[in-house]
Amino acid sequence: MEYNYSSCTMCPRTCMVDRTKSSGKCNAGSHVKIAKAFLHKWEEPCISGVNGSGTIFFSGCNLKCVFCQNYKISQENFGKVISTEDLERIILDLQQKGAHNINFVSPSHYIYTIAECIKNLGKSLKIPIVYNTNGYDSIGSLKQLEGLVSIYLPDIKYFRNESSMKYSNAKDYFNIATNAVIEMYRQTGKAVFNDDGMIQKGLLFGI
Ligand code: SF4
Repeated sequence: MEYNYSSCTMCPRTCMVDRTKSSGKCNAGSHVKIAKAFLHKWEEPCISGVNGSGTIFFSGCNLKCVFCQNYKISQENFGKVISTEDLERIILDLQQKGAHNINFVSPSHYIYTIAECIKNLGKSLKIPIVYNTNGYDSIGSLKQLEGLVSIYLPDIKYFRNESSMKYSNAKDYFNIATNAVIEMYRQTGKAVFNDDGMIQKGLLFGI
């Protein structure tokens, strides 16, 4: 499904900005921007395994926590704009290098492009997709990933509204993240691991 970037409501911020001309809270335009793509060996053991997780860091972020360890990427929007075809090539390259999975980090503001890429790759993509998110995702956008993402990895950052307001300017965080997690679990069901202990589908929490 082609996304209408002229009034963005892709995530719960519902900025309604025209991303072809400017950007909202996430700093993202309508074209994908990434900061880094590599084999990540220090994710959860069932994600990184021996070879590493084929990790792609997207630039910008829709939550922008003041304590972010990737501040340059999430808040200063460090990275390079690439085409959808470039992103598909990067995914295949990581797979060819032996990645156990493709791990999209901070993907909430690029969900529609991600869905398009996975669909375009079809059967040439043989490893699971991990959606590694801050949990501030809208249900309508998550539904675009049904049948495409195998593993959800939400980082649940706050329980108290006062804290989420203070550190991420998102007073509805816990309610939004709770509903997002319910939708993620609806899509994946119970976790499944292969004989090597690598997760193949399911929901994993970072807290
Ligand atoms: S994806 Fe970005 S521009 Fe769109 S609603 Fe979320 S923060 Fe705003």
